[in-house]
Amino acid sequence: MLILFDIDATLISTSGVGIAAMLDAGRELFGPSFTGEGVPVAGRLDPLIIRDLLTRNGRAPTPEDAGRLRAGYEQNLARALSCPGVGRTLPGVDQLLAALRQRPRYTLGLLTGNFERTGSMKLRTCGVEPEWFPVRVWGDESPHDPPAREHLPPVAMSRHAARHGRAIQGHEVVIIGDTPHDVSCARANGCRCIAVATGRFGLDELRDAGADVALPNLADSAAIWKFLE
Ligand SMILES: [Mg+2]
Repeated sequence: MLILFDIDATLISTSGVGIAAMLDAGRELFGPSFTGEGVPVAGRLDPLIIRDLLTRNGRAPTPEDAGRLRAGYEQNLARALSCPGVGRTLPGVDQLLAALRQRPRYTLGLLTGNFERTGSMKLRTCGVEPEWFPVRVWGDESPHDPPAREHLPPVAMSRHAARHGRAIQGHEVVIIGDTPHDVSCARANGCRCIAVATGRFGLDELRDAGADVALPNLADSAAIWKFLE
């Protein structure tokens, strides 16, 4: 079984420094009026957030400007994450990861809107090593244009298949995330989904989106193991 974890507001909290670092980079590059107003971020792919931020601020989302904004974001994020106390794992995460890593029938993975460098930085700040998750799919790894989160589970499944020498079916994949985007990307690919209300969405919204199980956080280990096993 392959278990794919979202990062932000599912495994960890970094106190909102991610979007702040991106908006700071926008102001540094494009002027003080650069705004994120009206651009949703929760559960979305970083390349799409960057594209929408540029468009929102009256700039054509060229690869050059997108690259500059991404580079500025990386620099600002590294600085912000170096402040003590910025990052932490969410309730139950440390225990769940430790237990799953001891059970060979589960392969752990990441499925996230983050870029590899920035997502890895965030995790390490919180004491979580990206290498604990042998299957990793990052926010810029959609094989299609425009990219979408729905494109990422098949990438994870093909990487899992390459590691294990056999194809894996959607029902053998569990996606764990905190937004309706995580839920819909599971459902679009026939995967199962545990949703946690540790982000900005409540249990009812996550259930309405189609989550198989919605939990307040990952500390309810009895419910999680019941679902997995
Ligand atoms: Mg999230």
